Amino acid sequence: MIVEIICVGTELLLGNILNTNAQYLSKKLAEAGAEVHFQTVVGDNPARIMDAVRIAFTRADTIILSGGLGPTKDDMTKEKIAEFFGRKLVLDEAALRNLEGFMNRMNRETVKKNIRKQAMVPEGSTVLYNHHGTAPGIILEENGRSCIMLPGPPKELEPMFEEYCMEWIRRRTQCVLVSMNIKLRSMKEAPVSIVGEAAVEEALGDLVNGVNPTTATYAKEDGCLIRVTAEAPDHEEAMKMMAPVVERIKEIFGEEYIKELKEDI
Ligand code: AMP
Ligand code: MG
Repeated sequence: MIVEIICVGTELLLGNILNTNAQYLSKKLAEAGAEVHFQTVVGDNPARIMDAVRIAFTRADTIILSGGLGPTKDDMTKEKIAEFFGRKLVLDEAALRNLEGFMNRMNRETVKKNIRKQAMVPEGSTVLYNHHGTAPGIILEENGRSCIMLPGPPKELEPMFEEYCMEWIRRRTQCVLVSMNIKLRSMKEAPVSIVGEAAVEEALGDLVNGVNPTTATYAKEDGCLIRVTAEAPDHEEAMKMMAPVVERIKEIFGEEYIKELKEDI
């Protein structure tokens, strides 16, 4: 499963807000065993949103969009996706009721016409009801291509992704990716032979060519980080596959120079 993340919002391009949705989604997708090859950010512009979607589907089978599901004119994610798939937008009664309920709880006046816009979904799609805000999420599938649309606010996107999407993705990938982080001591605390990413990579030898588990190095300010990642049907199996690699790394560097060893969560 190859996923492209498309974050929609001019405010992201202007640098007004940090794109935490991309980070959140990438982390979760890795955990669910899906491959992410590209993250795209596009402004609230109909032609450019369409371009981004078209390009994404040339290199991914699933796209996940965040933002642009709200009630205002610059929210057009659903409209563009419906157009891309040639679907009509239809009113989802349950989403409307959910919206009305949310509005009443928030002590707002009755749902207005522009709020109704949020309850419109592309025909034949699966609606992800929003328990933390108004705009529902949507999953649309057609001929092996899938599109997941999620609301922009992280407080809505994250619980919605947990509730509906993790299981949906896991069912399709049928695997998990689990990583162990092994942090080596810093320059001051460890011998020169194991500080610096190049030296660490050399010391790891053949481990860095491993395919499953993979072993990669990352230079950090306070020492080198080694990340071992396994893809397996479940967490337990992934841990089993990584165990000998982690043991080997302990042997290579010596336990006294390992500052921290923990699962990457
Ligand atoms: P939207 O649904 O596009 O109108 O987005 C609503 C709000 O969600 C924005 O004003 C931001 O505060 C937040 N938001 C949208 N996209 C992102 C993102 N990629 N990362 C973090 N926050 C976001
Ligand atoms: Mg927006």
